Amino acid sequence: MRLFLNIYRYLLTKYIIVYNTLQQITSTYKNRLQSIYDENEIRNFVTILALYELGYTKIDCMMNASNELNKSDADFFKHSLEKLEQNIPIQQITGETEFYGLPFKVSKDVLIPRPETEELVEWILKDNTNKHINILDIGTGSGCIPITLKQHLPDAKVTSWDISENALEIANHNAMINNTEVAFEHQDVLKFDGALPNQLDVVVSNPPYIRELEKEWMHDNVLDHEPHLALFVSDSDPLIFYRKIAQLAKANLKSGGALYFEINEALGKEMIDLLNNLGFNNVELRKDLFGKDRMLKGIA
Ligand code: GLN
Repeated sequence: MRLFLNIYRYLLTKYIIVYNTLQQITSTYKNRLQSIYDENEIRNFVTILALYELGYTKIDCMMNASNELNKSDADFFKHSLEKLEQNIPIQQITGETEFYGLPFKVSKDVLIPRPETEELVEWILKDNTNKHINILDIGTGSGCIPITLKQHLPDAKVTSWDISENALEIANHNAMINNTEVAFEHQDVLKFDGALPNQLDVVVSNPPYIRELEKEWMHDNVLDHEPHLALFVSDSDPLIFYRKIAQLAKANLKSGGALYFEINEALGKEMIDLLNNLGFNNVELRKDLFGKDRMLKGIA
């Protein structure tokens, strides 16, 4: 009997009128996504999609859970579910996310901003309140780091590089929607051998740092849908970006200026050695909210 009930429910949620209300959508999503995501995450997806598509607040989602949706909204939830089943990240379905309370557009060309990176930004902001400082960010992606810094340090001059033209387009768009002035430049840091025009106070970077050998532990939604250009480095030289950026920072930071990195949790010790060997002082490693070695600072 129970088996028949389950088959009936499965068929109902798979094929029949199940996208009519948020309540039905939630149970359809739970049935279809339970093998990839946990229940809280699935509920959260429905809320994010309802905020995006219906213009609801979180309270509206609860109050209107049994209201009938129109056909195009119901179709949106149906198509979004198909995308979630293909492991497409929710932020790529809506095309947007939030970072440090600010809106950011995202696409398959940029890494989806992570909460760990908010902590890095917080560290920089705590160290540098209200200053006319000169900041260079390397490997900007969506632009989440430089745009957030500029929002909170309006007197700072912020420059930001990326190798990807597509990423720079998104970053420029994000600067515009946040009404923020950042000088985005197309640069390949590994090939950069020029001089920088100004002495810098802060250099920051969240470069690619996942080793090929770590791929097997990654979720399909990251592996299949986020840009490999922003994520991966070879197993034989995983610090390739850090070495070059740290050298560049050492040569262009004012004395007392600071270099901040987001790092691979497994390479904290190697990173401390790298900065010490290049002559940085007071090298400090910090953990992220998940308790993993994630951020590093050194003083020039
Ligand atoms: N923290 C990101 C992840 O785990 C990686 C970021 C990076 O490579 N810079 O997917």
